[in-house]
Amino acid sequence: MAKDIKPVPRTTLARTVAARLVSLIADGTFKPGDRLPPERELANQLEVGRSTIREALQSLGLMNLIDVQPGRGTFVNEIDREAAAQIEEMIKLAEQSSTATSTQPLLGLTRTPPPGLTLPPSPEKPTALHVPNLRRDRLGTFDFISWWEHDKVQAAKIMIVGAGALGNEVLKNLALMGAGNLFVVDFDTIEAANLSRSVLFRAQDTGQKKAEVAARRVKQLNPDVNVQFFHGDVNTDLGLGVFRRMDVVVGCLDNREARLSVNRFCYWLNKPWVDGAIQELFGLARVFVPGEGACFECTLTEQARRDMSLRYSCPLLARQNILLGKVPTTPTISSIIGGIQSQDALKLLHNLPVAAGKVFHFNGLTNESRITAYVEREDCESHWVYGEITELAERRAADTTLAQMLDIARAELGKGAVLELDQELVLSLQCHVCQTESEVLKPVSRVSLEEGRCPACGELREVQMTHVITGEEPFLDRTLLAIGVPALHILRARNNEEYRFYELTGDLEETLHFSHFGKPAASPRIRIKSAPRPQITMSPAGTADGVGGDGAPAHPAEAAGGAEARAAASGGSSEG
Ligand SMILES: [Zn+2]
Ligand SMILES: [Zn+2]
Repeated sequence: MAKDIKPVPRTTLARTVAARLVSLIADGTFKPGDRLPPERELANQLEVGRSTIREALQSLGLMNLIDVQPGRGTFVNEIDREAAAQIEEMIKLAEQSSTATSTQPLLGLTRTPPPGLTLPPSPEKPTALHVPNLRRDRLGTFDFISWWEHDKVQAAKIMIVGAGALGNEVLKNLALMGAGNLFVVDFDTIEAANLSRSVLFRAQDTGQKKAEVAARRVKQLNPDVNVQFFHGDVNTDLGLGVFRRMDVVVGCLDNREARLSVNRFCYWLNKPWVDGAIQELFGLARVFVPGEGACFECTLTEQARRDMSLRYSCPLLARQNILLGKVPTTPTISSIIGGIQSQDALKLLHNLPVAAGKVFHFNGLTNESRITAYVEREDCESHWVYGEITELAERRAADTTLAQMLDIARAELGKGAVLELDQELVLSLQCHVCQTESEVLKPVSRVSLEEGRCPACGELREVQMTHVITGEEPFLDRTLLAIGVPALHILRARNNEEYRFYELTGDLEETLHFSHFGKPAASPRIRIKSAPRPQITMSPAGTADGVGGDGAPAHPAEAAGGAEARAAASGGSSEG
């Protein structure tokens, strides 16, 4: 018990004081030639004893940072490279002082940390000297954080889905921290009620697009950050190639349908995502990493799953329901949860440990928090990672027809290859009262409930739809865009044995550029990080998993009807 408690070594305090003085020198508060305040004054200002000040000054003197001239005072020297190296070491040691209990003497610091001190968690941190100028470099203070990797943060590509209360907080935080490339997604417009909890919105923004205004304000907040906004529905309108080029996705959503979509897209492309949810003074934040524990879909209750399959029977109604169910929130809880989400995104960028598949709950009434692990579901339909993706450099959604896309797939997969759409295509609407049928050929997301009603009798008509293109269709001359495939999407094709994946890479330049409200500060390297992908297991056609009927290889998402299962899940639990 008591024997576990070790005293705080005095040298720790002296190190911290020394680090503070070093940073004052590094940031130009004390310039070369300046005389430092007397020991007594420093001791008062820093609220430590004079002996601690003396010890700190002694170490600074040994590092040639200062020159003690008896009778005249202590003067700041020019900083040379060797001194700068020692500064860096010292700052690292000072940072570790809160956890380390080494009683190593402060003096005689070397480039190798003494035993008992842990190395910074990121061994990849460049060893090049960098003494930040805090007057000129807005991000300079972060370089004092031992694991902070300036270059990684600057090169980061982060998608923020939802620009409501949580999205505002996350965007604000990421911009302040200098996260280099932010992609903001929202389909909504600003209304007066948003102003009470959205730091980026102003009264005059009412009626404007949330994603656009948020992105513009982020650019004003930190002009070094590259931004792009996307005004559209994440469920249907955003090509998977955008997800593929992100490092992290942050979900600031207020409904289950969108969470499920983000979850599946991230899983398919092997991307981590950070979810947040808030209601009144309650909130939760959680990280989902494909292959590491539960995903969002694993967390759904049986009831939620039943709701999903129920709604599948009427896809037009399902979409309507998403718009219902706003819940009250406060800007304080969005600060807390948005803060946690931003930090987790930052940790993911740095490959620091995150609690994947667990949830952080915060109760703002009692200020209690707890972390709970979810149970991973073996039969979860989201657990599927795409295999190798073929980039079609010349192909774009707007001018590639279904016939052309089938040809590409058949060249590799043979004559029997079919295309699988992510979104259901409504073929026709049938009225059983009037015995009429009218052709539609639009994605289900573009068919409103009103359109679903029969113009003659007003009954809700039966929806005929498909998500498999076999080559028999009379509309193969339609473009991919016309039937609801977004730009830069990744299409799935299959024969009876395997899947192939094709990206409409011809859309890349226009679809993902991070250059709204000004040219990119440094050209965002929109490259793909190749991560080891789990093998896709194929089961023989005709197995009992519900997809055997048309001779398809097993594909968990399809077992639930693919896209329509996504479209079917709704019901907001908390407001983003
Ligand atoms: Zn899952
Ligand atoms: Zn009718």
